[in-house]
Amino acid sequence: MIRPVSAALPGRHLPWRLCVAALPVVIGVYYLLPRLGVSWAGVQVAFYVSANATLAAACLIAARRHRDLRTALLLLGGSAAVSVAADVVFYFLALVDGTVAYPSVADVGYLASYPLMAAGLLALVRKRTPEWDGASTIDAAIVAVSAGYLTFVFVIAPSIDVTASNLTNLVSVAYPIGDLMLITVGARLLLGAGARPVPLRFFGAYLGLVLFADTSYGIQTLDGTYQAGNYLDAFWMSSGFLLAAGILHPALPKMAERSSTSTPDATIGRLSLLAGAAPVAPTSIIVQSARHESPHVLLAAVICNVLFLLVMARMAGLVRAQRNAAITDGLTGLRSRRFFEQALRTETTRAGRTGHPMSMLLLDIDHFKTVNDTYGHDGGDRVLVEVAHRLGRLVRPGDLVARYGGEEFAILLPGADTVQARDIAERVRQGMAAVPIAVNTGRLHQVTVSIGIAPLPPQDADAASLVLFADRALYAAKNAGRNQVAGGEPGSSVRNAEAAFDNSPAAAPAAA
Ligand code: GH3
Ligand code: MG
Ligand code: MG
Repeated sequence: MIRPVSAALPGRHLPWRLCVAALPVVIGVYYLLPRLGVSWAGVQVAFYVSANATLAAACLIAARRHRDLRTALLLLGGSAAVSVAADVVFYFLALVDGTVAYPSVADVGYLASYPLMAAGLLALVRKRTPEWDGASTIDAAIVAVSAGYLTFVFVIAPSIDVTASNLTNLVSVAYPIGDLMLITVGARLLLGAGARPVPLRFFGAYLGLVLFADTSYGIQTLDGTYQAGNYLDAFWMSSGFLLAAGILHPALPKMAERSSTSTPDATIGRLSLLAGAAPVAPTSIIVQSARHESPHVLLAAVICNVLFLLVMARMAGLVRAQRNAAITDGLTGLRSRRFFEQALRTETTRAGRTGHPMSMLLLDIDHFKTVNDTYGHDGGDRVLVEVAHRLGRLVRPGDLVARYGGEEFAILLPGADTVQARDIAERVRQGMAAVPIAVNTGRLHQVTVSIGIAPLPPQDADAASLVLFADRALYAAKNAGRNQVAGGEPGSSVRNAEAAFDNSPAAAPAAA
């Protein structure tokens, strides 16, 4: 029996599994230690920081292994290391002075960990989608604006103490802003296009746990119910161990793979999330009114407008993507047959009106069935993509290349008379045959094409007859032995070619 690779290499999975297994043990001991007496406080702190220390160590180990992810991992590790340092400083301040002033030097470390973490996450996002991903950015903005509004109304505004110093207020406000930064970048990472390997779930779990613990901490501090060492420490510690597990997971390099598409699908889950995030401002007014609190009406109105505009922008993007999908061929990225036929009608009408020449080419790959038979359907698809790519380079700027059928392509040449159309067709034919196409690694295939030309003298301005003429010329090129250009001979026109074809004994439906 063939064992899967992952089962054959248990060592690769050991480190991340150890992190997950360590989590309940370390947390269990952490909550047991205070029962043994105050002399164990130092050990308890060591257990607490072991979560972030494990995360920092995991990042360092992974940074050595995965060159591609080095910047992101060093930033994430730096964030964890700074948190560890802040915890140690906080503990020593508490040991020396009994109580720790707020804010203290430890807060510098805690606050510094947020931008480092956000920068690390952003570096990951850039790896996955280097080009601008407008849809994900709008999604992340909707989540961030909603979360930002909730954070302001329920955490920041109540935490501003008019009797406290400016510095205290500044530090109190800086924490929720740090969380907001994580929400924004985290949403961009989790909602963006790209592979979704197991480590991405650990990143999601990390963000969820940290944001829940931070927000609960903010609320408990406000209503005076927070007690050091309460259940929230379990959330913070779990977040460290889980992210460390994700970082040590063998599938981590997949996180850095460049996404094949820059725009993620509008799935039900994503739309539900956006539908939940968009109405937060009016909902919060209802909640605050029910609790007899005075809502921030002006801010809520501004947020409503911003979210409304963001949702409209997102919808416009979806409509544009749908329209684009309808006129684009999914495999090659060329224009679809439907788009081509519409453009052909427009161009023939224009040529009829202005008297300017125009031409079209119909191209069919020779013996394409052999390509499929030899290299499989996927190999055939790779050839189609490369042919499409070459076509784009061989025609003139402004010419329209479309995938007309399976392995048939149509090219619209506005302004090209018979001579120019023949030149372009000949250039395309030679350009295809010049260099073999790499189908599979190390396997090259010589591809040739047959091309039918249909030039359009103005008096014959009719799109349907132009396609017919090109099809018949293509048939003639195939009949003449393939790897040929046919049609567009001097003096030919759609009408006399049709007549000639209809009278010829070889007249038959196009083979291509
Ligand atoms: P000829 O020189 O006469 O054109 O011979 P041919 O083998 O190319 O014959 P034909 O043009 O009839 O072959 C069309 C083949 O293209 C048959 C079909 O299986 C294949 N095909 C059509 N669409 C696709 C596609 O999207 N991907 C792949 N891989 N093959 C396709
Ligand atoms: Mg063919
Ligand atoms: Mg064909």
